[in-house]
Amino acid sequence: MDYYSNQINRLVTELSGLPGIGSKSAQRLAFHILNMPKADVERLSNSMTEARNTVRYCSECFTLTDEERCPICKNPKRDHRTIMVVENTRDQAAYEKTGKYEGVYHVLHGAISPMLGIGPADIRLKELLLRLQKDADEVIIATNSSLEGETTAMYISKLVKPTGIKVTRIASGVPVGGDLEYIDEVTLLRALEGRREL
Ligand code: ZN
Repeated sequence: MDYYSNQINRLVTELSGLPGIGSKSAQRLAFHILNMPKADVERLSNSMTEARNTVRYCSECFTLTDEERCPICKNPKRDHRTIMVVENTRDQAAYEKTGKYEGVYHVLHGAISPMLGIGPADIRLKELLLRLQKDADEVIIATNSSLEGETTAMYISKLVKPTGIKVTRIASGVPVGGDLEYIDEVTLLRALEGRREL
């Protein structure tokens, strides 16, 4: 890419390092940015820097948040005895969007994948077990219906069952291999309502 000046090349290279952005999209975005008013570019870059600097893990559910405890964990109206286990913050947001789930969450930040070398210690499982030592009535496993999601669900169920806490798995009305965040709210609700005990 020697057709562009150094600064443009640098911008294109940075952008093409983002997921889903190929070299063509990176070039399109770069030229879009170069045509934006300077104030807008500054706002964009500030929002990235500030989000990166302030966003951290909730001390309770490990979702990404600006505060020590996220708004859901802080909310006394939520049912803190029902914990839904999700793979990531985007999946959690998908369930929140339904507006019907009243429990709290636990965000694993990944799923067990022997193929990718991701083991139980690489996701927030230890933290889940620690949480369960306090009061809990039900753990709803809402990992994706991919191989990794199912492996993770089995693993969690084996860990939690001996504690006597009810373990359920969301119904597999969710298409196999489908990422939860792309599934519409009605399907998600149906999957939640149709959950079965493991
Ligand atoms: Zn939280």
